[in-house]
Amino acid sequence: MLTCEALGHAYPSGGASLDVLKDINFHLEDGDFLAIVGPSGSGKTTLLGLLAGLDRPSHGRVLLDGVDLGALGEDERAKLRRTKVGFIFQSFQLIPTLTAQENVQVPMELAGADDAAERAEALLTRVGLGARGHHYPSQLSGGEQQRVAVARAFSTRPKILFADEPTGNLDAANGDTVVELMTSLNEEFGTTLVLVTHDLELAALARRTIRLADGVIVSDSAA
Ligand code: ADP
Ligand code: MG
Repeated sequence: MLTCEALGHAYPSGGASLDVLKDINFHLEDGDFLAIVGPSGSGKTTLLGLLAGLDRPSHGRVLLDGVDLGALGEDERAKLRRTKVGFIFQSFQLIPTLTAQENVQVPMELAGADDAAERAEALLTRVGLGARGHHYPSQLSGGEQQRVAVARAFSTRPKILFADEPTGNLDAANGDTVVELMTSLNEEFGTTLVLVTHDLELAALARRTIRLADGVIVSDSAA
């Protein structure tokens, strides 16, 4: 369902350009669970952004369900992200002016669901926050905000979910809860999961691990 072919990315750097990803190739099937690991600066976040269609690659291709993301315009990529892709960030990135309930509900409304309110309530209950729907992000702890972010990411039932160091700002107990939620939702909905992490315990839960160093794949446990 997700393929990268000779994927590369360069950022402009002064007058020159900085190659941060080089010749990345792999393929994921529906329901796969991939961990991407590697030192800071090795290109993990850049890779995730390309895979999720947030950015366009400077070389090569990303195919999501056979669609070449780089060939799509900004609007088409945004539409594809809304319908197929979920994203969880290290820093939660909830909308501060919306309640927990609204943060989960709004993406479903944008996707045209007419039962968005009920589904948002059910998802918040699923992540243990059924009683906190009326609270704003600033009234929630980091662990609670990340659980809302998990509920939001799964709300539109994406085919693929990307998470960039989702436990990086959480203590061990909250990190475990968030991981347990992501993996159980991965199994429940058959969502493909792509997780960037520093945490080797977390990476060990994945069925496959790709290790990056200096923008290249140095090992791939499924290769
Ligand atoms: P990781 O997530 O593994 O820490 P990143 O993908 O964030 O790595 O960064 C890879 C490299 O690209 C780093 O050297 C970083 O400084 C550089 N980089 C990331 N974003 C940009 C940007 N917008 N402009 C220029 N360089 C960037
Ligand atoms: Mg990063």
